[in-house]
Amino acid sequence: MSRTSTHDNDAAVVRRAGEDTPARDSFPPLGHFIDGAFHTTAAETIALIDPSTGGTVAEVPSGTRADVDRAAAAARAAFADWGRTTPRERADLLLEIASRVEARADEFARLESLDTGKPRTVAADDVQGTVDVFRFAAGAGRAFTEAGAAEYVRDHTSILLREPVGVVGVIGPWNYPLLMAAWKIAPILAVGDTVIVKPAEQTPLTLLLLADVVRDLLPAGVFNVVLGIGPVVGAALAEHPQIDLVAVTGSVGSGRAGAAAAADSVKRVHLELGGKAPVVIFEDADLEAAAEALRTAGYWNSGQECGAGTRVLVHESVADRFVELLAEQVGAIAVGEPGAGDDIEVGPLISQAQLDRVRGFVERAEGEGARAVVGGRALPGPGFFLAPTVLVDVEQGTEASREEIFGPVITVETFQDEEEAVTRANDVVYGLAASVWTTNAARSLDVPRRLDFGTVWVNSHLVLASEVPWGGFKGSGYGRDLSVYALQDFSRTKHIQLNHAR
Ligand code: NAD
Repeated sequence: MSRTSTHDNDAAVVRRAGEDTPARDSFPPLGHFIDGAFHTTAAETIALIDPSTGGTVAEVPSGTRADVDRAAAAARAAFADWGRTTPRERADLLLEIASRVEARADEFARLESLDTGKPRTVAADDVQGTVDVFRFAAGAGRAFTEAGAAEYVRDHTSILLREPVGVVGVIGPWNYPLLMAAWKIAPILAVGDTVIVKPAEQTPLTLLLLADVVRDLLPAGVFNVVLGIGPVVGAALAEHPQIDLVAVTGSVGSGRAGAAAAADSVKRVHLELGGKAPVVIFEDADLEAAAEALRTAGYWNSGQECGAGTRVLVHESVADRFVELLAEQVGAIAVGEPGAGDDIEVGPLISQAQLDRVRGFVERAEGEGARAVVGGRALPGPGFFLAPTVLVDVEQGTEASREEIFGPVITVETFQDEEEAVTRANDVVYGLAASVWTTNAARSLDVPRRLDFGTVWVNSHLVLASEVPWGGFKGSGYGRDLSVYALQDFSRTKHIQLNHAR
């Protein structure tokens, strides 16, 4: 790929919005939501930073073990009644939550954009996904059954029951604060568990708005929010003896810490961790379609997306042509603040630390022989913007080809044959998602079956639906979000056997 010329990438500029941020007096109450009430006072606080400007947006309490204790007691007490409600009663409430969020969709989206810097279209998509997952879980909860009664031992009738597990602790990430919380809360409530959610410390606002929106709807203690940092509040949720299951969406390190803390109480663990999705492009692929799809799938949410198509493996015979097409697409991406227009595709990274981290990956990759044909540099501030980047001449086994960069960066490697492509695609610790691009019918089923990833798309990437499971293998964790499999993960099976011999 060394023949590919460097693309004119000076086009990327940050489009600014002017005054278009939600006013502070439109914020939800800024405090923990425990037992149906907000608690806004605290000894220590966390400053929320607007990633588009670097300015401080608000301060929220930083929770303690005592806050988790209170939430766990409230959730445990509420479970006594909530766990005995019928699927239909719970479904009615979930449908009402969906309607209320939908009615205030714009407010949710604007708040999410403020907290994360994400473009308004991305935030609106998150809100729409949130509404849909509550509706899906409402219906799925009513249709969710175990096998009926049967006699497997003579004169003994077995009944299999599906039960809630009890109190679930949820630890969330900052990349999709509302959506990732909803992916947990909806199935958890649908099966009759109560829940305590700890949002990522950087991005609690939309979860607090959700609490405010449903505070008069759900019985006190069914849904709780404790704000704070991972090693304190997250660790307490994972370790707490009154919590029956902990679900972590985040990096591999946080998942590992949560699972280790959960071990003492032999708590069930549900992990949705990082990813490094390979995009395997064969010589028979529709290259234009692949390049166009990656403009979205590689850069959606500034590439801060666990399923992002970030690691292209392209057949060497079509590599130069594909890189030209990709560079054209990526060079045309509109970068800006959320309020700068509905055509903005890429916003800032979440923080200065994340910008520095991603730049570090790019610089080290260049030090190892890679070359940016588009982007590769930070954009003038304020805010934490990086130009959408394509790195070519990336060698297999280097850091950029193995590690989750979690920014607007696609790396491109080449391969010679199908066997090599499959082996190298699988050669990462992650196993969340992958895509295969081919017009060969046999290859379109055979290659996905050999890829060690929880989702494999063929001729698309990053297309999700509430009906189908989302989750990984290997270092990406275990447990499934979305679909009936999430309801399974957040419930338990009980066998009751009746001896009726006479
Ligand atoms: P992170 O690991 O920094 O934080 C995630 C959560 O874990 C936060 O709430 C944090 O406070 C908490 N945490 C940190 N240390 C902890 C500890 N010792 N004990 C308990 N909790 C702790 O992740 P992030 O930076 O917020 O999110 C980005 C990561 O999440 C990426 O790796 C991304 O791939 C992954 N992610 C995965 C999915 C998925 O569905 N698989 C979805 C979104 C994000």
